[in-house]
Amino acid sequence: MSKKHLFQFLDSPRGMPAKVSLAERVAGSFDELYGRFEQADAAHQAGRCLDCGNPYCESKCPVHNYIPNWLQLVQEGRIIEAAALCHETNPLPEMCGRVCPQDRLCEGACTLNDGFGAVTIGAVEKYIVDAAFAQGWRPDLSKVKPTGKRVAVIGAGPAGLACADRLARSGIEATVFDRYEQIGGLLQFGIPSFKLDKAVIATRRGVLEGMGVRFRLGVDVGRDIAIDALLREYDAVFLGLGAYRYTDGGLPGQDLQGVLPALPFLVQNGRLVTGSEPAGRPIAGWEDQLVLPDLCGKRVVVLGGGDTGMDCVRSAIRLGAASVTCAYRRDEANMPGSAREVANAREEGVRFLFNRQPLAIERGADGAASGVRVVETRLAEADASGRRHAVAIAGSESVIVADVVIIAFGFSPQVPAWLQALGVQAQANGRLRVGGNGRLPYQTGHDALFAGGDCVRGADLVVTAVQEGRDAAASIARMLRGKKSIPLALSGA
Ligand code: FAD
Ligand code: SF4
Repeated sequence: MSKKHLFQFLDSPRGMPAKVSLAERVAGSFDELYGRFEQADAAHQAGRCLDCGNPYCESKCPVHNYIPNWLQLVQEGRIIEAAALCHETNPLPEMCGRVCPQDRLCEGACTLNDGFGAVTIGAVEKYIVDAAFAQGWRPDLSKVKPTGKRVAVIGAGPAGLACADRLARSGIEATVFDRYEQIGGLLQFGIPSFKLDKAVIATRRGVLEGMGVRFRLGVDVGRDIAIDALLREYDAVFLGLGAYRYTDGGLPGQDLQGVLPALPFLVQNGRLVTGSEPAGRPIAGWEDQLVLPDLCGKRVVVLGGGDTGMDCVRSAIRLGAASVTCAYRRDEANMPGSAREVANAREEGVRFLFNRQPLAIERGADGAASGVRVVETRLAEADASGRRHAVAIAGSESVIVADVVIIAFGFSPQVPAWLQALGVQAQANGRLRVGGNGRLPYQTGHDALFAGGDCVRGADLVVTAVQEGRDAAASIARMLRGKKSIPLALSGA
């Protein structure tokens, strides 16, 4: 047990687990960037917590984790209790500990962030769950009474997995369908291994199966099985469909050879890295995007400054690109990507060009892409939504030379026709409408259909998808309780 004193944060600086060396990263290592704390390091970092009376970190965390409480348990070496407590609020704590943009969430709100260095909350959360799983701990559902109710979950992304976890804890049998061959959604097919080792997802699958959750993978609902069949067979259906409609920038030249959309690039590369699937296997919705170009020695330009853009630039570095440039239309302060990931990208040699709006992809003599024509921008005053728009500066055009251009402008949801036919409505931006007008939270216009995650919020974060899947399960249990008594024991390990 580590000894804590009140002002430990003054003597002990904030510390993260060791990173894979820069030399290994630029030489092509896709290993998870941050290592794991040992017990003593985790306890020491946890001991920096001030245990504020009103913990802002908890309020800012979308799932409202009991952060100071589990930091205290880590100091006392009570890892199993800490893991159980983590799971009370967060069905996927080991994922969130790895991929949350903590600088904008829990750690950004930590009192010590004001000059002393925030407590390394995410890394400790990852440590707790990894250590507890390694010791053989698993959620204890021995007191859960089966209700006889059955729910189909469409989508094995964080929203669907969180929903399935909470359903299982309520004694409701959950069967998760996904069109992909593995669980995880964008955790598996999007986020690269250097942010999240895919073995972590495999472990979580085993944990969920141990809780009684069933998976039917490689099943595209609407094509391989009709929603009507699911509605007949199950008491309710949760939709965790994600957001996969590609934001089309409409750039002249975007169809030239050498121009790639970000997600197929990341998915194909992820398959190569993990060796799990043949890289040539079609990606649902991207069947025409099968060839992963050789980036070795190429000048790569990535357009877009979100998480997807950061994953592309850092993957391109590892794939041996001669140079990697990220062009973003606003300034660094207004970039949506996590500050930690931007810092890591810079460290790995990525060049950032802020305030650059792409205008067109230039065509080279060989007919392929040869560069990106951009115009410099300035930021206008904030509009009603608080966002500052980029305004082009006349006469400031230039060309960034490129052999390969990766477009990472983001995604929005799209309602499948089979849902529209059931009266499920969406907003103009494709987000499914849930709740309101006497509906339960996360209930769609169809009584038995609930939804959450990116298909409701628009492309957002893993932790917000987890929160919505978790809370949608509570609504589903409430609805089914109306038909037959089901205890709302949605927390507890
Ligand atoms: P998804 O993860 O997209 O899962 C939806 C699942 O539904 C998919 O597996 C899909 O196959 C399945 N599905 C859809 N329709 C059907 C159907 N008809 N039949 C069967 N299955 C279906 N967030 C962070 O917090 N941190 C990050 O670092 C981060 N990095 C990101 C990097 C990239 C490249 C991308 C694209 C996103 C990133 N995000 C990150 C965002 C995060 O991954 C998403 O917000 C989150 O995964 C959304 O979860 P979800 O469950 O709603 O959807
Ligand atoms: Fe922080 Fe995310 Fe963990 Fe919440 S879930 S404590 S925001 S890392």
